[in-house]
Amino acid sequence: MDRKYRAISDKYNVKISFVDITESLSEICRLQKTNVYATKQLSKVVIDTCLLGLNLKDKDTKIATSYKGDGLMGHVIGEYNDDFIRGYCQNPDFKIEQFDLKSELDKDSQAIGVSGILQVTRKRKKQSPFTSNVEIISNSIDVNFMYTMSKSDQIKTFLCSNVDINSNNIIASARGIAIQILPLIAEETIEELEDKFGSIEKLQKKISSGDVKEIIKLLIEDAKILEIGGIRFSCSCSKENAKNAIFLLGEDQIEDIKNKNEDLEILCDFCMKKYIVTVKEIIDEKSS
Ligand SMILES: [Zn+2]
Repeated sequence: MDRKYRAISDKYNVKISFVDITESLSEICRLQKTNVYATKQLSKVVIDTCLLGLNLKDKDTKIATSYKGDGLMGHVIGEYNDDFIRGYCQNPDFKIEQFDLKSELDKDSQAIGVSGILQVTRKRKKQSPFTSNVEIISNSIDVNFMYTMSKSDQIKTFLCSNVDINSNNIIASARGIAIQILPLIAEETIEELEDKFGSIEKLQKKISSGDVKEIIKLLIEDAKILEIGGIRFSCSCSKENAKNAIFLLGEDQIEDIKNKNEDLEILCDFCMKKYIVTVKEIIDEKSS
């Protein structure tokens, strides 16, 4: 079962969030039919989205991140809502021949892209969504998420995701950690923490396997675990949403559907569930 952990350290005045979402991401990548490169990068976007969500004070806030890079995967989305997660990739199984072998960029970077926009939308229940956009400044998804966090919250956060995939494109481990430095911390302590966590590569090795509680204690000696909870993949799609999508079409298109008298099949891009909306349902809704 996938888990989230929250901890604090009084010594360093930091908040720690840790997620192990190996099972959920295995399911998400199976449904999205990702190739091995897309498996890794989509997983990293979902892990970081999840960490962003856990950092929020308000449990009722849904977070959606939209990674619009110039890579072969196209548009990538991660969503976190009250311990439910889901993910989407536009070109999950792009052709490996598309890689430019002469490029200076490695294959992971060519898959996700190195420029574009990272959009983060926060939506609280019964309120309008709030969206922020930051430019993608790095080939590292973690660095771009850290950049968006520093822009929107003005709080320094170390973020690191690690995804291990075995030779059959099966996720062996998908974990991430966020260490949020609370305000009013001494400059020397920040430097000490930067020394400790400044390198994503070093952190990745430390979090990749083993007991999570022990890892947290190894990283920050005085860390107190405040909460351990479940987290899982679940799609928020519904027949109602599928119907609403149809009503966003123009009058002409709806007229066309009625004339053809063919039921419509709406596919959820996240979980691949199919919804059938009948012409009768469309007429009933329009006349009510
Ligand atoms: Zn769905």
